[in-house]
Amino acid sequence: MAIATINPTTGRVEKTFTAHTPDEIEERIAAAAAAAVTLRATSYAERAQWMLASADLLEAEADHIAAIMTVEMGKSLAAARAEALKCVKNMRFYAEHAEQFLASEPLSEPSVVGASRAYAKYEPLGVVLAVMPWNYPLWQVIRFAAPALMAANVGLLKHASNVPQSALYLDTLFTRGGFPRGSFGALLVGSAEVDAVIRDPRVKAVTLTGSEPAGRSVASIAGASIKKAVLELGGSDPFIVMPSADVDAAARVAVTSRTGNNGQSCIAAKRFIVHEDVYDEFASRFVEAMAALTVGDPMLDGTDVGPVATESGRADLAELVDDALALGATALVGGALPDGDGWFYPPTVIADITPEMRLHQEETFGPVASLYRVASAEEAIALANGTDFGLSSNVWTTDADEKQLFISSIDAGAVFINGMTVSYPELPFGGIKVSGYGRELAAAGIREFCNLKTVWEA
Ligand code: NAP
Repeated sequence: MAIATINPTTGRVEKTFTAHTPDEIEERIAAAAAAAVTLRATSYAERAQWMLASADLLEAEADHIAAIMTVEMGKSLAAARAEALKCVKNMRFYAEHAEQFLASEPLSEPSVVGASRAYAKYEPLGVVLAVMPWNYPLWQVIRFAAPALMAANVGLLKHASNVPQSALYLDTLFTRGGFPRGSFGALLVGSAEVDAVIRDPRVKAVTLTGSEPAGRSVASIAGASIKKAVLELGGSDPFIVMPSADVDAAARVAVTSRTGNNGQSCIAAKRFIVHEDVYDEFASRFVEAMAALTVGDPMLDGTDVGPVATESGRADLAELVDDALALGATALVGGALPDGDGWFYPPTVIADITPEMRLHQEETFGPVASLYRVASAEEAIALANGTDFGLSSNVWTTDADEKQLFISSIDAGAVFINGMTVSYPELPFGGIKVSGYGRELAAAGIREFCNLKTVWEA
C-alpha cells in the first residue's frame, strides 16, 4: 500500500510520502538501540517529567493533530480532539503511576528459599516495535507508548500506511517533550518491511494492533525469533439486551457504540442479541435512531457519521452486507451504497441473519449492526460465544443472578454491564481467542514489556 494521506471524505490524494530507505531504517533502529541504553539509566522522575511535558505539548496541539486525523481517516473533528485529550490523560496517568506499578516485589519470608533477601524487579526489555492501525491514529500508539517509555523501553512505530502525517507527528512528540533522541521514532515503511525489523537482534519485542491476518503474520515471525509479542486484534462484540433492561437506554447506547468512529472500532458492539420479550421495542428504537443520524463531512459540526477510512474497507463492508441480503437477510435501515464522492456507507441494521452468511462470523468494520432475536439467557450466551473473536462484550440486565451468569459465561476479555465498552487507562484491555493476547493499560499493560527479574541474595 502506498504511504499517503487520501482524504476519505473526498477520495482525493492529499499528500504522498517516500518510504524510508534501508539506510534510513538502519539509522533509526541504531538510534533506538542507543536510546535504550540511555533511557535505562534514567530515573522515573526524569521520565515522568518528559512524559508530562509531552502531554502538555499534545494538549496544546490537540486542534492541530485532530485536523490531521480527520483528513487522514475521516473521524469527526470533535471525536479526533477527544482522542487527543484521552491520550494526554493516559500519558499523565502513567507518569504518575509507573513507579508504583513497577515497584519491586519482595518475598516477605526470604528464609524459605534460603536467602537473606529475595525479590522480583521489573526491568525494561529495550526496543519494542509497535505496528499500529489507522482507526485511532493517536490513541492506539499512545496506549502503547506512554507505559513503554515510562518503563524505560524504547518505541519504534510502524504506523498504518494511510496515516503518515499522524505518524510523523508522533515521531517527534516525545523528543520535543525531553526524552533522549531515539526514544520513540516512526519508521515510514510498508508492512513488507515488518518481518526484517522484528528479526533484527536489536529489536526485543513487538506489539501489533490490527487485523487477524496481520496478527498471525507478526506472531509467527516473533515466535520464530522467540520474541515477546502482544496482539490486539479484531472484535465482533455482542451486545445482549434482556427483558429487565432499560431498553430505551440500551438502544441509545447501542447506536453510540455501533457508529462511534464511523463504526470502525475494535470494541464497538457489532452483534445485537435481544431477548424476544423486548426485541420489537429495542429494534424499533434502535432502527429509528440509526436512521436519524446525520451522515456527512466529518469537518462539520452536526455530522454524526463520516466516511469509512479506505475505499477497500468500504468495499469489504458492502460485500458482507450484500452477501447477507442475497442469502435472505433483511436491511431494517441502510444496506445500500450511496452515490457521490467519498467512501460513505449509511448506518445499517441487518436482521434475519443465518449461520451461512459471512456477516454472522466476520467483523463488520463500519456502521453496520447485526440484530438477533433469542428466547433465553442461555441462547444469548451461546450466540455471543459462537464466534472466533473474544474482545469485549456488553450485557443489559438488572437481574443480579443473570449478571453473574453472563459475567462468568461470556468468553471475552471484558464484560460491561449496562454500559458500552470503553478503554480506560485504569483498566486492563485486551482480548482472547482470535482477538489476541496480552494486555494493555493499567498495571498489566506496563508489565507486558518488562523482564521480571528474580533476585536472590545469600
Ligand atoms: P491491518 O490491515 O491489520 O493494519 C494494521 C497495521 O498492521 C498497519 O500498520 C499495517 O500496515 C500492518 N500490517 C498489515 N498487514 C501486515 C502484515 N502481514 N505484517 C505486518 N504488518 C502488517 O488492520 P487495519 O485494517 O488497519 O485495522 C482494522 C483492524 O484492526 C480491525 O480488525 C480492528 O478490529 C483491529 N483493531 C483492533 C484493536 C484492538 O485493540 N484489539 C484496536 C483497533 C483496531 P499497512 O497499513 O502498511 O498495511
